[in-house]
Amino acid sequence: MSGWFDETLHEHMALRLKADRLLYDSKTEHQRIVLFENALFGRVLMLDGVVQTTEGDEFIYHEMLTHLPILAHGRVRRVLIVGGGDGGMLEEVLKHADIESATLVEIDPQVIEFSKKYLSKICGQAFEDPRTRIEIADGADYVAACKDRFDLIITDSTDPIGPGEVLFTERYYAAVKSCLAPGGILVTQNGVPFLQGEELQGTLRILRREFADASCYLATVPTYAGGPMAFGWASDDDTHRRTSLDILEARYAAARIATRYYNPHVHLGAFALPGYIADLIEKPA
Ligand code: SAM
Repeated sequence: MSGWFDETLHEHMALRLKADRLLYDSKTEHQRIVLFENALFGRVLMLDGVVQTTEGDEFIYHEMLTHLPILAHGRVRRVLIVGGGDGGMLEEVLKHADIESATLVEIDPQVIEFSKKYLSKICGQAFEDPRTRIEIADGADYVAACKDRFDLIITDSTDPIGPGEVLFTERYYAAVKSCLAPGGILVTQNGVPFLQGEELQGTLRILRREFADASCYLATVPTYAGGPMAFGWASDDDTHRRTSLDILEARYAAARIATRYYNPHVHLGAFALPGYIADLIEKPA
């Protein structure tokens, strides 16, 4: 089979990817899962018509949501990933030898089972790592009831449509705050500001109320089309966002991780915001 898939995320613009071979197309209780091969990006995972990850460019997204906060913090031991059923985030987190536990809370168990089978290039052996804990639950309910404390919480969710919507609400962010250890960091998938500015604005309005320090940082991921993608950042420790180049370089060298996008210079540059994005997050409530 060969055809084209149009992403249905944006009203006035669509990403179109050629499917050289359809590998999977099925509905779970929560969403439609589609997987196909594309000559440029390798395997492409779509949920409900929206690109989630591809073998070709996943490293950018996953490295920037893991190594950046881990190295900015310097003493991350316990990590919570909300969403992330493809396992790519888990795999990057576990590259750090001093991580003691990584808990993944995914609403849809079929995404995990599917990813183990079809996306091993993305998740590697992460689901089998003894430090991995899997919880099948709605992420918002999980953090609301959770008594554990984490040094880093990563929201690796779908966009705020369908099951992912609750992961962009005040209730969720407030509960996340109470699950963070002192000085802990929250980072979030926050869409492409040029096309999804209101989403970033909404998140930052809440994060700025809840946390002493909140902002966003950027990376360009080819299949999240429309310009750079924004990642939300929040912590009650405002020194983490200003960790110096010298310290980042020392931590990066000590971590001994192989990266293809992340490096300490990219880390610092990612917090430089073009005017149109700075304006979005500076707008008062
Ligand atoms: N990189 C991605 C993107 O394109 O934004 C996210 C990838 S990951 C596959 C997103 C995961 O979040 C999905 O597997 C989905 O089932 C999960 N998810 C959505 N809503 C959720 C919720 N309320 N609680 C926990 N997991 C959720």
